[in-house]
Amino acid sequence: MREQRLQMISKWLKENDTDAAFIHSTENVFYLTNFFTDPHERLMGLFVFKDSEPFFICPGMETSQAKEAGWGHELIGYGDHEDPWEIIQKAIHKKSGGRAISVAVEKDLLSYSRAENLMSSARASSLSSIEELMNGLRLVKDEKEISILERAAELADFGVKAGVEALKEGISEMDVLAEIEYQLKRKGVSQMSFSTMVLFGEKSGQPHGNPGLETLKKGDLVLFDLGVVLDGYCSDITRTVAFGNVNDRQREIYDTCLKANQAALDASNPGTRIGDLDLAARKVIEDAGFGDYFPHRLGHGLGISVHEYPSMAFTNDNLLKEGMVYTVEPGIYVPGVGGVRIEDDVLVTKDGYRTLTKFPKQLQII
Ligand code: MN
Ligand code: MN
Repeated sequence: MREQRLQMISKWLKENDTDAAFIHSTENVFYLTNFFTDPHERLMGLFVFKDSEPFFICPGMETSQAKEAGWGHELIGYGDHEDPWEIIQKAIHKKSGGRAISVAVEKDLLSYSRAENLMSSARASSLSSIEELMNGLRLVKDEKEISILERAAELADFGVKAGVEALKEGISEMDVLAEIEYQLKRKGVSQMSFSTMVLFGEKSGQPHGNPGLETLKKGDLVLFDLGVVLDGYCSDITRTVAFGNVNDRQREIYDTCLKANQAALDASNPGTRIGDLDLAARKVIEDAGFGDYFPHRLGHGLGISVHEYPSMAFTNDNLLKEGMVYTVEPGIYVPGVGGVRIEDDVLVTKDGYRTLTKFPKQLQII
């Protein structure tokens, strides 16, 4: 699979008359090498060429792990006392004979100083973008990726369950958050895919609220939004439950949000315009009179990054394809009352969809 991906890049380079690609984001490096590491400020990058073997350069202390992960092409390690760009200059010179080359880069991510280094050390005469190709390759997941995403979603379900079980009067948001992450760590999860969210009462009405020391009281809605990174892939689930009791207004918000979630799921079929899923959910929410309280898109693609393509916004004219994985997460946030968001991870199948997250969605009063 890795080899195929590298070949796709070489093919693209040929088609676009570009000599080389420089890929250095941890996500795309992982996608192409199966090696995931955060090199911090140190340089790590992959050079792929249109007509010769790629090479991978990373800090010397990490080369054995890169090999173990399965990187079988040229591998260059460097020490902290060395300038990696000097080493790159030599390696590129071997390929190019010293002539200027055109290089495709991750343009949203490449720093100005690295662009300068590419031009001086690698003798890049022009830079172009490889983002679209990489985003396109990562858009459709293969079987192995799907099975990892499935297990990551199972752990997200488990995280919500741990959170729900921890709820009791007077407990704080941070206490519940700590319990969730403690339970997940005991299951071997070393990293969450983003900062876990546990929000009580009116705070559940902040789409990106920050958990704090607020304590739980009867009548609060409780919103959990969390996900884990498993073998390099992310999950992302939101569930909202009621604590103690629920009033009519809260129930109406919940039922509407659940219907919107289901409407978007029902629309999940290969060949459907992506934006129509957002519109399906939005219509349910607007028809119930909550249109002003759904301020974000329906969701986002999910994979090595917790937010990737496709964007599940109503403006997206692209079509769903088998193997795409994305979130469906309508939310309704009413000031002074609170918010409800219900988020699933969804896989497009040959003839419909499958949700990877399975935690029950009927309103639960804890
Ligand atoms: Mn999400
Ligand atoms: Mn989420």
